Amino acid sequence: MVLTNDLPSVACWVSQMASSFTSSNIRGDFGLPCFLRVLPGVNCCAIVLSLLIRANQMNNTAKLAKIDALLGGLPAFQCKEGCFDCCGPVIMSRMEYMRCIQASGRTAEDVKRQMQKNLKQGIYTCPLLDPETKKCSVYTVRPAICRLFGVVKGELLCPHGCAPESSALLTDAQSREILRKVEELGK
Ligand code: SF4
Ligand code: SF4
Repeated sequence: MVLTNDLPSVACWVSQMASSFTSSNIRGDFGLPCFLRVLPGVNCCAIVLSLLIRANQMNNTAKLAKIDALLGGLPAFQCKEGCFDCCGPVIMSRMEYMRCIQASGRTAEDVKRQMQKNLKQGIYTCPLLDPETKKCSVYTVRPAICRLFGVVKGELLCPHGCAPESSALLTDAQSREILRKVEELGK
């Protein structure tokens, strides 16, 4: 019978198709079978990569929004005019750092170079402080530690007595908890 005789060749063809779909010439750069590659002009790895980057960007935006929501509730107060005494080298999370660099309009390398130059000269001023205006160059996106300074009872109080109402001051435990959450979100 024709059908019976053809069965082995059909099975063989299916097997060849299956193996060709998993062969190295149509595997993605991640080593996975890449079916989109059979379409002319489609680089599936570029598509997957751009989707991953986009998902990561959306994730980062959501995390930064959560950080901003946490910091947005901190009490406000008026600083001494022209003062930048608490603008020393500060520690911040990775995402806060990336946002500050972006807002500064400089490169991370440039900021780092200035920091190293400052330290060599015994200058402990934050490299994000504008050397001309003596104002924070990234004020609207300044990191958590800069926003907490002056609003926490104890060591983070302003040396010039600038502060919100005493009833609004945070406890040390509250400020540590905020920093912990920001650090976690901003990894
Ligand atoms: S918190 Fe105090 S030390 Fe810091 S900038 Fe304001 S006035 Fe100056
Ligand atoms: S980031 Fe801005 S507010 Fe914070 S220490 Fe630097 S210059 Fe001061």
